[in-house]
Amino acid sequence: MPNARLIEHNKTQFVKEIVELASGVWGAVGFAASCQYMVEGAHSVTIIDTSESTKAAQNVLDEFRQRCDKPVGRIIFTHAHRDHVSGASVFLGGRDIPILASKGFKSDLMAVDEATIAPNKALGRRTMAQFGIGLSGEERISLGCGPGDRPMDGLGAGFVPPTALIEGDCDIDLDGVHARLIMAPGETPDHMIVWLPDSGVLIGGDNWYHAFPNLYAIRGTPYRDFAVWAKTLDQMANIGAKVLGPGHTRPVFGVEQIREVLGTTREAMVHVMRETAKMMDEGASLDDIGAGVALPDHLATKPWLGEFYGKVGWSARAFAVGTLGWYDGNPTHLGAMSDHRRAVHTAQLAGGTDALMKAAQETDDLQWRLELCDHLITLEQPAQSLKAEAMIALAETEINATARNTYLWEAKRLIDAT
Ligand SMILES: [Zn+2]
Repeated sequence: MPNARLIEHNKTQFVKEIVELASGVWGAVGFAASCQYMVEGAHSVTIIDTSESTKAAQNVLDEFRQRCDKPVGRIIFTHAHRDHVSGASVFLGGRDIPILASKGFKSDLMAVDEATIAPNKALGRRTMAQFGIGLSGEERISLGCGPGDRPMDGLGAGFVPPTALIEGDCDIDLDGVHARLIMAPGETPDHMIVWLPDSGVLIGGDNWYHAFPNLYAIRGTPYRDFAVWAKTLDQMANIGAKVLGPGHTRPVFGVEQIREVLGTTREAMVHVMRETAKMMDEGASLDDIGAGVALPDHLATKPWLGEFYGKVGWSARAFAVGTLGWYDGNPTHLGAMSDHRRAVHTAQLAGGTDALMKAAQETDDLQWRLELCDHLITLEQPAQSLKAEAMIALAETEINATARNTYLWEAKRLIDAT
């Protein structure tokens, strides 16, 4: 049975619904990996974020039309991640209207720059694994930040580049609705959030969602600056919003509740930074940091800090590497040996590859089984199915959707290769 809390998170956060945030402001939850918003103006509406596919965007537009059928007057992107920008063409409907984004906007949907040396194949594979692309809806359950089961037609197909890049905080008129665009670097440096002071609605992009923040994405991301993100959460908490419309998961209502969710998420980030720095000062290895840093009870028990999307241990590792790089201060690791050389030594110590295989089969510690299987596979021993079974077993206990999807996706790949 999959992790019950992950199933519950999917059921409570991603059921399809058009939610009225305030008079004339609606949010679409559960139709796509991300949420979309519509703000009604005098003669037109503004769409904030557009989903990851043309099919999901069309479903959302059809629902929005039932609330307000005024034409779309402009689109705002909170940031450039593909799950927010890929349904724009549907909302444009072939018309020439403004698309606003922050000056730092840089879509990863634009063509890969062949002149830059980058591990693009690895990124592609890990992205497929993290989001469980190719897994059944039942296997996937959830993306952590969105429903596992959602339309995939026209995935990435509807991106349209912004027509205007906003340089700094500014007030704009959304056809009679006063809005303030605020530069809010957080999950990405290009975040721009939308504050509607008259209705008290804050559209916060991915700087907050109902899950421990994805301070490190296992698909592979450069260092996300923890301190900058924490500062932005502080700013968002001080705005005094009555409704928070996140980039993923359901809206949050109430000034105090919004302060609480933003404040405790900020506190959790600061805690990870502080504890990781302390362990680094004490000379801890990356593995010990990953296994050792944990949230205190008063934060760990907050439902919105459940590790459905981001994970505390991965974040601690990311902070360590992001601040001082991979060397942990232990000179042993300066000359760390290759996997093959370590596998040869380990097999010798175990009394040969047969003994190593037996140990891998007999241990109840699934992580240890994976590590022994890796030695065996490196030594060209047939441990692929044993490794795949261990990954599937780990996936079933895992609360983190991206870990679950990756275990299942990689297990399939390993079984297919044997
Ligand atoms: Zn997102």
